[in-house]
Amino acid sequence: MSEQITRVAVVTGGSRGIGRAICTALAEKGCCVVVNCRHGVQAAEETAALCREKGAQALVVQADVSAPEGCEALFSQVQKAFGRVDILVNNAGVTRDNLIMRLTEEDYDKVLNTNLKGAFLCCKAASRLMMRQRYGRIVNLSSVVGLRGNAGQTAYAASKAGVIGLTKSLAKELASRGVTANAVAPGYITTDMTAALPETARADMVQQIPAARPGQPQEVARAVAFLADEQSSYITGQVLCVDGGMAM
Ligand code: NDP
Repeated sequence: MSEQITRVAVVTGGSRGIGRAICTALAEKGCCVVVNCRHGVQAAEETAALCREKGAQALVVQADVSAPEGCEALFSQVQKAFGRVDILVNNAGVTRDNLIMRLTEEDYDKVLNTNLKGAFLCCKAASRLMMRQRYGRIVNLSSVVGLRGNAGQTAYAASKAGVIGLTKSLAKELASRGVTANAVAPGYITTDMTAALPETARADMVQQIPAARPGQPQEVARAVAFLADEQSSYITGQVLCVDGGMAM
């Protein structure tokens, strides 16, 4: 009988929202979970406690994934603690919404550096380990906005479209080594990120959703956990929308 390996999952931005739901979903599946956050250490510790309640090992690592030093620190701590990385979920994300005339270069850089460069840096660090292991599951959080565009979100949409290109290219590079790379594109999900939007913008979004309601973080987490599963071995380079039908 083959030995059961405890899979080690790194979830960036695992302190709250969709990231927290992904951490607990992976803990439920028996993974050992690394909960990354940028500032919210206390919230990340709460996520880790939820994972431990499910019988999983959990480690909090505070690191800014938009900075190369941050990613290096994250993966060297994971290496030291567990010696492997089986699952990487690039979930950390920020928005700086504004019409292009008012969008500053600084805000554009902030969004691109976190959402796209952060994902690139983490993929680079993880894929080195995964290729050596001849096993890995990478799941990157995109957005329906990366597929359709959205007025007032040029930077965010560019970053999320970029995540799709990154994911598909990586899928082609890594497929022969047993490493898959897929993207999940949520629609409108109830989290701090969308709570920051004006009520009218939220009502407008619901109008565009065939399911006629916002999604919950757990509904996204289930899709991520599916793609991160060992048995999802022949699915790579795909974009799975979790959006109540919004982007059809
Ligand atoms: P939240 O704003 O609720 O949480 C964002 C998370 O990202 C936090 O854990 C935050 O950490 C972390 N984070 C931000 N910047 C960094 C950084 N530089 N380094 C490390 N961690 C960082 O977002 P959501 O849960 O709503 O979104 C999660 C992902 O899903 C994002 O990529 C988002 O773009 C995407 N998405 C969300 C949708 C939605 O409707 N909510 C729709 C489509 C896509 P900290 O707590 O420390 O600040």
